[in-house]
Amino acid sequence: MHREQGRGSMFAQVQDKPHTMATTKDDVVRTGAQAPIRTGAEYVESLRARNLKVYLFGELVDEPVDHPVIRPSINAVAETYDLAVRSPELGTAVSPYTGERINRFLHIAESPEDLVMQNKMQRRLGQLTGTCFQRCVGMDAFNSLHSVTFEIDEAHGTAYHERFVDFLTMAQQQGYVIGGAMTDVKGDRSKAPHEQDDPDMFVRVTKRTDEGVYIRGAKAHQTGCINSHWLIVMPTLRLGPKDKEFAIIGALPVDAEGITYIYGRQSCDTRAMEGGDIDLGNAKFSGQEAMVVFDDVFIPWDKIFMDGEYEFAAMLVERFTCYHRRSYVCKSGVGDALIGAAATIADYNGVEKASHIRDKLVEMTHLNETIYSTGIASSYQASKMKSGVFMNDDMIANVCKHHVTRMPYEIGRLAQDLAGGIMVTAPSQKELEHPEIGDIVRKYLKGRKEIAAEDRLRIVRLIENMTMGRNAVGYLTESMHGAGSPQAQRVQIGRQMQLEFKKQLAKNLAGIAPESAEEVSDELAGYMEKVFASANRSNDE
Ligand SMILES: Cc1cc2nc3c(=O)[nH]c(=O)nc-3n(C[C@H](O)[C@H](O)[C@H](O)COP(=O)(O)OP(=O)(O)OC[C@H]3O[C@@H](n4cnc5c(N)ncnc54)[C@H](O)[C@@H]3O)c2cc1C
Ligand code: SF4
Repeated sequence: MHREQGRGSMFAQVQDKPHTMATTKDDVVRTGAQAPIRTGAEYVESLRARNLKVYLFGELVDEPVDHPVIRPSINAVAETYDLAVRSPELGTAVSPYTGERINRFLHIAESPEDLVMQNKMQRRLGQLTGTCFQRCVGMDAFNSLHSVTFEIDEAHGTAYHERFVDFLTMAQQQGYVIGGAMTDVKGDRSKAPHEQDDPDMFVRVTKRTDEGVYIRGAKAHQTGCINSHWLIVMPTLRLGPKDKEFAIIGALPVDAEGITYIYGRQSCDTRAMEGGDIDLGNAKFSGQEAMVVFDDVFIPWDKIFMDGEYEFAAMLVERFTCYHRRSYVCKSGVGDALIGAAATIADYNGVEKASHIRDKLVEMTHLNETIYSTGIASSYQASKMKSGVFMNDDMIANVCKHHVTRMPYEIGRLAQDLAGGIMVTAPSQKELEHPEIGDIVRKYLKGRKEIAAEDRLRIVRLIENMTMGRNAVGYLTESMHGAGSPQAQRVQIGRQMQLEFKKQLAKNLAGIAPESAEEVSDELAGYMEKVFASANRSNDE
């Protein structure tokens, strides 16, 4: 079955005429910069003076932009703006809603090529930052909500899609960063939301008024939330009729009243407060996660995109994770930088030409390109949804993300092999610069004579940063759990593996007679239908 079943695409209609919704004063969140935000510098200014309630190390943060632990994560998002300025083909697209060139992170995919270009942009940003640049959750939430709101309206006669497109258009016009808040804290994992002892374990509606709804609860592990302008709150799992109050999707400004952010600390994060840049490994860039606590936070009706339609929660989660699991191509870009670091330390140590070193670099590259290949294959094998947005292939997206739960760990292991023990026993930058022992440290830390000891130290610190320091959060553990822990992908792969079809192939070859008439059917369905469909097919066919 094709996903689109002959109904006219609203997306196609709006493409003829750019959306003319005027951005209202209320929609323009308080920012220190003049919108639209285009450059990294404008973005950084836009985050100032927002009066967010952020806790870090037991204290309220005065100004996150200037906090040494937080700033590298802001720099990573700023790079998504600067890339768009430097390489518009990679970092931007023309919006059918505004008619303008916008940042690709805010674009709705109009073709498989758009999805592939998202992946290429993600790989490039991974290369440039060596960490999580935080904007893909919002991008994937936008693309999944485009089709889900359309299909809720179709079933219930609601007006969510139009509201959503209004919000999307406003975000595109202003150049905002959107955070995707899906993962609830979840309490007892064996229980549904309505079965929890404490109902706040899943974000829920506590009150409805003529103006809107109030929500309560907490979202965990929220990537880039403090660096965003808006958050989109979404359910995290399949919901049943008794979970109706948990079936809420809405957009709210990051500085909405009643939100508290509790910053997630990362391995070696306080090195950013010690001064110096060598021990940091990657002094400029890092990721960011925080817990977001909603204490009866108001969302007006025009920013609500689902309210009570619990039967669509599973559709949203599956479509969001479908987009997001192939977004993990970002790790192939980070992997490029780590492979480069491993090759550099081998060179500095004078062993680059040894056959086993070269073989390990080949192995790392093989693993890294496997991640990339499955990501873009999923994007190429896309389908057009009823709303007109394109969605990448779910089976291959899950294969991509499942690779990501393993391969960065093996690439990291090989990088540590090539780095040598110095990666974890090296002295600090302060010893290197010490008036008495600095010369001794530089003498004994030398590898090849042409290479300064400081450079050798810098490259091993980068490998430390990416495999066990701050950016190992993004490269390793986020690879494991982000967009769902490994079992979540195995469930999706299992659902689509079409064993009956494959058994029939085997029985045919082995000369075993079919047991039923269905077994002789050679009609392709499910995943196999997509595998053998023409690359340029439309779902109208
Ligand atoms: C660095 C990082 C960034 C992230 N960014 C975001 C973000 O921006 N937005 C967002 O919404 N989410 C984000 N996530 C959340 C991510 O989607 C979750 O971590 C993931 O879904 C797993 O949930 P959990 O961490 O609560 O793990 P848990 O649910 O505690 O899982 C732990 C283990 O228990 C197993 N398990 C869980 N439930 C069950 C069950 N019912 N039955 C059997 N086994 C079970 C899991 O398979 C896993 O092996 C991020 C996570 C990380 C680590
Ligand atoms: S982990 Fe990768 S896909 Fe997810 S937000 Fe970070 S950079 Fe994007």
